[in-house]
Amino acid sequence: MATIRFKALEEASNRQPIKTNIPNSRISEHYGINVFDRIKMQKYLPKEAYESVVSAIDEGLKIDRRIASQVATGIKTWAIEHGATHYTHWFLPLNGSTAEKHDGFFDLSKNRDRAFEEFSGELLIQQEPDASSFPNGGIRNTFEARGYTAWDPSSPAFILDKTLCIPTIFVSYTGEALDYKTPLLKSLNVLDKAAVEVCNYFDKNITKVTSTVGWEQEYFLIDKALYNARPDLKLTSRTIMGHASAKDQQLDDHYFGAIPERVLGFMQDLEFEAIKLGIPLKTRHNEVAPSQFECAPIFEEANLAVDHNQLLQSLMKKIAKKHNLEVLLHEKPYKGINGSGKHNNWSLQTNTNVNLLSPGKTPKNNLQFLTFLINTIKAVKDYDTLLRASILTESNQHRLGAHEAPPAIISVFIGQKLTQVLDDIEQKVSDKKMTPDEKTELKLDIIGKIPEILLDNTDRNRTSPFAFTGNRFEFRAVGSSANCSSALIALNTAVARQLQIFKKDVDNLLLHNDELKKDEAIFRVLRKYIIDSKDIRFEGNGYGEEWIAEAKKRGLSNINDVPTAVRAFTEDNSVNLFEKTKVLSKRELESRLEIRFETYIKKIQIETRVIGDLAINHIIPTALRYQNTLIENIKGIKSIGIRELDDIAEPQVKSIKKIGLHVKSIREQVVELVRLRKEANKIEDISEKADIYSSKIKPYLEDIRYHIDKLELIVDDEIWPLPKYREMLFSL
Ligand code: ADP
Ligand code: MG
Repeated sequence: MATIRFKALEEASNRQPIKTNIPNSRISEHYGINVFDRIKMQKYLPKEAYESVVSAIDEGLKIDRRIASQVATGIKTWAIEHGATHYTHWFLPLNGSTAEKHDGFFDLSKNRDRAFEEFSGELLIQQEPDASSFPNGGIRNTFEARGYTAWDPSSPAFILDKTLCIPTIFVSYTGEALDYKTPLLKSLNVLDKAAVEVCNYFDKNITKVTSTVGWEQEYFLIDKALYNARPDLKLTSRTIMGHASAKDQQLDDHYFGAIPERVLGFMQDLEFEAIKLGIPLKTRHNEVAPSQFECAPIFEEANLAVDHNQLLQSLMKKIAKKHNLEVLLHEKPYKGINGSGKHNNWSLQTNTNVNLLSPGKTPKNNLQFLTFLINTIKAVKDYDTLLRASILTESNQHRLGAHEAPPAIISVFIGQKLTQVLDDIEQKVSDKKMTPDEKTELKLDIIGKIPEILLDNTDRNRTSPFAFTGNRFEFRAVGSSANCSSALIALNTAVARQLQIFKKDVDNLLLHNDELKKDEAIFRVLRKYIIDSKDIRFEGNGYGEEWIAEAKKRGLSNINDVPTAVRAFTEDNSVNLFEKTKVLSKRELESRLEIRFETYIKKIQIETRVIGDLAINHIIPTALRYQNTLIENIKGIKSIGIRELDDIAEPQVKSIKKIGLHVKSIREQVVELVRLRKEANKIEDISEKADIYSSKIKPYLEDIRYHIDKLELIVDDEIWPLPKYREMLFSL
């Protein structure tokens, strides 16, 4: 008997929903109670300190040390009143998780006769955690392994588990970024500057542009006992074997269906904890695959949205456990059914409260809208390989291009109606001066009608990796387990650079054509961009085979191989982009590339080790046991001496052979896999090693799995050791 599996199944099926912890009062009353937000700042900080922090947030001004001490005292008082005993700098290292190192507020006086709570301005502003084990891609030598964390006042401090968490950046002794937040903040800053300059063509009152982000987090849930009975899920976050269930998502009966009671309890607790931490979760629903779900907040300023998504991911893991569940954030936990993404809804908002990707009421507003729309498309066209590098990881690779996920070709969808508008501009605008009539037609009939056409724009192409959805772009290729920053750093920087170029192009035209009006110059430059970026626009079915052929014709790249795709980080085009905008240096890009290679290799290393172990120690012994049962059965038939012996025993003989052949293949491949891995590990050059892991080692995962999944169909269910797909997918 497969005791572990059956015990797990029994445990899972007897599971009772856990009571939630939510008071009866209105949810809005709890919003942000664990966050040191502006309202609390006003209460706990002297006026001078409050104003200084606000201008640090709004205008990026520095906070001096004296003010920092006042802020530290205010935060400490608030935190202790709210039960906090410890504090930590909270940062986002390049391993994709969140990092914290807790220290107590508790301290003793010099002669140790008095205990008190201490938290100084120094401790708020900067720390040197001994964090030498985070990936740094060769930037930090061990002899100068110092990394510093420094306060990011634009993301408010919060209390989690009685610990005051202070969002910080993480940089090396030599000033290079070791995290996601540092370049994200820089990218937001250049984007702000570049966008404001362009906005000033239309409105001089615009002095600040922020990027807004609303992510949609997809995930799977599974009962804890079943999860614990699958070593592959525990160690690699995905099932690396398992035959498809007879029924999974074919009937589309999960999507938007009633949420199972246990899951609802989890969601309610999650939402309540999130709301208290200021994460404005709003939407929840079932997703396409069985046991797959999604949640989404109201969009926020990008830096805050990223911190909130990282925080949410850790909350999810913790709260799931309380409900005897495990949350699977991997992009493809189960083969053959939908994977999980994290659509990044992205837009730009001005200090005058205008969404720059939303058409306005007047032709002037719409020209501004078109300017940002077209420049974004052009940026995606010019930096498509970088954008792909920013989202392609070992885990996301399983999802892209499979089962309702965009392929590894970057393209932009804008809908039929807007396509028509861009086509009209292309035809009507030229380098000749326009007549007043032509101008009027363009303004009133074409761009004047954009808001109306967008109102009935129900045209929502789900298959595009980068889609315009009425008032924002949706970057859909981002993976569910990712830190959104990686994608946003690339996108923000590319758009910022494109806007800088646009400004230059328009100003140049105006400089050399005295009588040319500003709006006509803008039209001319936009027309050029429309033509130059046409190839990146695709309105058809992104999941179809025809698109792959069409994209190839257009010269768009389709790279699903991780080492090949991530090399785009250090292509000249990317290095130029990041150096010109000062978001990342060449050395920082090289280190990021090295970390990508390293992580990729390690993940495949772990997956292949796990499959080797499971194959040899779980699957083969089980298969042989069943084979022996069959052999015993034939012996028994023989012993009673029936005439049609051969006929009766034939199916068993066939199965014995099949099992034998699968076992043989598995054994041989595992031996070969170990040999190849040993060879590969001798390679010094990390880039070359990543290629070998991708081309020579990774394929064994599928090859070995093939035979294991076949065995699953032959071997007696009673002795199969691992929970099956049908059991894991329908456990809730
Ligand atoms: P859908 O599944 O139809 O795409 P959802 O409601 O699940 O829609 O998610 C939409 C997300 O887009 C939400 O997080 C929402 O806050 C966000 N969003 C809406 N407007 C903007 C905007 N201007 N900038 C950024 N995000 C936005
Ligand atoms: Mg969406």
